[in-house]
Amino acid sequence: MQFTLSDEHRLIQETARRIAKEKIAPRAAEIDETQEYPHDIFAAFRDAGFTGLTIPQQYGGSGAGMLPLALAVEEAAKYCCASGLMLLLSALPSQPVMIGGDERQKQWIGSGIASGETKGAFCLTEPNVGSDASNLETRAVRDGDGYVLNGEKMYISGGTVADYVVAFARTDGTPGPKGISAFIVPADTPGFRVAGQDRKMGVRGVPTADIVFEDCRVPKANLVGGAEGHGFTHAMLTLNSCRPVVGARGLGLAEGAMTYALEFARERKAFGKPLVDLQAIQFMFADMAIQIEASRMLVYQGAWRVDQGHYKREDAAYLSIAKAHATETAVKVSSDALQVLGAQGYMMDHPLERHYRDARQLMIVEGTSQIQRVVIARSLIERELVYP
Ligand SMILES: Cc1cc2nc3c(=O)[nH]c(=O)nc-3n(C[C@H](O)[C@H](O)[C@H](O)COP(=O)(O)OP(=O)(O)OC[C@H]3O[C@@H](n4cnc5c(N)ncnc54)[C@H](O)[C@@H]3O)c2cc1C
Repeated sequence: MQFTLSDEHRLIQETARRIAKEKIAPRAAEIDETQEYPHDIFAAFRDAGFTGLTIPQQYGGSGAGMLPLALAVEEAAKYCCASGLMLLLSALPSQPVMIGGDERQKQWIGSGIASGETKGAFCLTEPNVGSDASNLETRAVRDGDGYVLNGEKMYISGGTVADYVVAFARTDGTPGPKGISAFIVPADTPGFRVAGQDRKMGVRGVPTADIVFEDCRVPKANLVGGAEGHGFTHAMLTLNSCRPVVGARGLGLAEGAMTYALEFARERKAFGKPLVDLQAIQFMFADMAIQIEASRMLVYQGAWRVDQGHYKREDAAYLSIAKAHATETAVKVSSDALQVLGAQGYMMDHPLERHYRDARQLMIVEGTSQIQRVVIARSLIERELVYP
């Protein structure tokens, strides 16, 4: 068993750390305040080759994998969780195609994402279904050599800047997961409409939008994998494979929050001595470190497992554990770090209130904390997760 990163991993980590310190840290508060998508930071990621980390080499990426993506996302999220999401969005809307698409689709989507020429979005959630995605209502009706989509998607990350979306829609009357298919829908397709941008609590640099399909016609060639009925599987495998990277957003955020509070506590005095000399405060930091280091192990191991091909249904529990633990750590650590600053932590002069707002998103997206527990419990009951 080895616990060391390879030279390639370290190079990616160091490059991401430099981008985070030089470009993201100075802009993080402004990105949150203006709620504007940071195209300059996207360009820095693109120029470093980070948008192609999970795209195999034959489709234009580096094929480095999910662990390198997690390492890069972690560094970005130390300062700006939205920038971490921006990078994660190189994988979330390309994974359904990399997992289930045909060669032409992989080449098309892979080359655009890897080069940074195109951005994607992942359209699963609807007004009437979130966690219960297998009951989605958007329809795709076969019409000649194409499909006509009608329906509405909600809370779509990056929806306003996407050049294409992967939309999950019901292709036949079969209820539940078996009737669902995935489609590549370019944003300039007639009938595709961004219906509105959400006003939200955190992660405000990446817009979240409603997407409407109104008689939106796509050719059959845009049906992911060319066969109906596999969309739900593609969606679940995509979510499984990306869960450690959502965890990496939490890991980085927690590290950033703890580091900031620690520096503050060295300087701030109470009862005649620095806060760091108070044992109650020391124990808060020790607890933060315990949770962060456990998250690091789970996130790195989870991402590594994905890179070994272990992200199927029977592997899902480990990935859910990583996601749940690291994102819940982000909420707890950012809350405790804010507490260390007292009133100052509540003010917008410091980044901790932003970290805290951003962290709350992580327990909801890509499967809520409750849904992760549903997955973990199922794996225990079905003996996929076994303790000998
Ligand atoms: C900022 C943001 C960005 C997002 N980006 C995207 C995106 O890019 N693409 C996309 O498709 N979606 C996106 N989402 C949607 C997100 O995936 C859903 O919000 C999430 O899956 C939960 O669905 P819901 O909000 O409808 O809650 P519901 O499913 O209505 O759940 C409500 C509550 O009930 C709990 N619950 C539900 N079912 C169970 C159960 N079986 N057991 C126990 N508890 C349960 C949930 O945990 C939750 O606490 C985003 C959401 C946010 C907030």
